[in-house]
Amino acid sequence: MKSFLIISAFTLVGSCATTKYSTKIENLKNSVHVTDSTLIATYAETITAKELEKNLYDFASSTFEGRKTGQEGQKKAVKFLEEFYKKENIAPAMDSSYFQTIPESFLPDGIGSSENVLAYIEGYEYPEELLIVSGHLDHLGMEDDTIHFGADDNGSGSMAILEIAQAFKIAEMAGCSPKRSILFIHLTAEEIGLYGSQYYVKNPVFKLENTIANLNIDMIGRVDNKHEGNSNYIYVIGADRISKELHYVSEKVNNTFYDLELDYTYNEEDDPNHYYYRSDHYNFAKQNIPVIFYFNGEHKDYHKPTDTADKINYELLEIRTKLIFATAWHLANQNHRLLHNDDI
Ligand SMILES: [Zn+2]
Repeated sequence: MKSFLIISAFTLVGSCATTKYSTKIENLKNSVHVTDSTLIATYAETITAKELEKNLYDFASSTFEGRKTGQEGQKKAVKFLEEFYKKENIAPAMDSSYFQTIPESFLPDGIGSSENVLAYIEGYEYPEELLIVSGHLDHLGMEDDTIHFGADDNGSGSMAILEIAQAFKIAEMAGCSPKRSILFIHLTAEEIGLYGSQYYVKNPVFKLENTIANLNIDMIGRVDNKHEGNSNYIYVIGADRISKELHYVSEKVNNTFYDLELDYTYNEEDDPNHYYYRSDHYNFAKQNIPVIFYFNGEHKDYHKPTDTADKINYELLEIRTKLIFATAWHLANQNHRLLHNDDI
């Protein structure tokens, strides 16, 4: 199976001059095979609704005062994330610190300096190639005495990243390191204009040209109006824009394990909501890095103080987190580096 993937990748590249584009796309689609299904299923089991719930009740509690960029609550939130990674023995991405400090001068007037949080697991075969799993940690803070808890936005994505990182670490400790390196980034200052991701791409810790893909998670713990009564879904945005292979990997992994409805409504170029441009993945996409944005859609508590931890569907959050973990595993471990559409 290993050699088949290598052959198919080279066949695609080698046949460009003579094969019709539609045939090449069909070949690409057929070349995606999930080879590590037992390992993926085993380590996905370490991702549990119970742990997600416990962590999210903390992260979206009043202690963090709505995690507004540059403020006390946000500083407590980055400490919370740091403590998790230390406890799990997951290394910082930079030598001595989990924090990438964003100076006040980079941020809008009146916003104090802030931090991205970066943790890292090194690949054993292609350590210089990097997959980024990201989500923003900040939210809207306080309005007078009212806290915007931001449980779904984006406590859900933040806690999903922790569980995914933990699953990869448990695998590593059992001798199953990923082939490629994985960077887990909790981005700050998203709500005020995607500044955390903008800062990272201007000051990358690892070369952007070696970054194979970005899986960005922003709101995955709730159900929107469209899917009430049919909650096994997630919106997938952007997957095919830079790498059709990424789209096919995403579909294949989902079909193999979880069978969620992957809703592409918001991936339409003319979608009036323009979500493709509205979360941190977009700053990676602008650097020609293939991205997926995972999103549950808006709901009545979106950007309201009522976005609280008790309203999260934890069973659903678990399944969606497992799907993202499984997709990350596949991307970090497939034999060839993810192809861009330009390579086909
Ligand atoms: Zn958000």
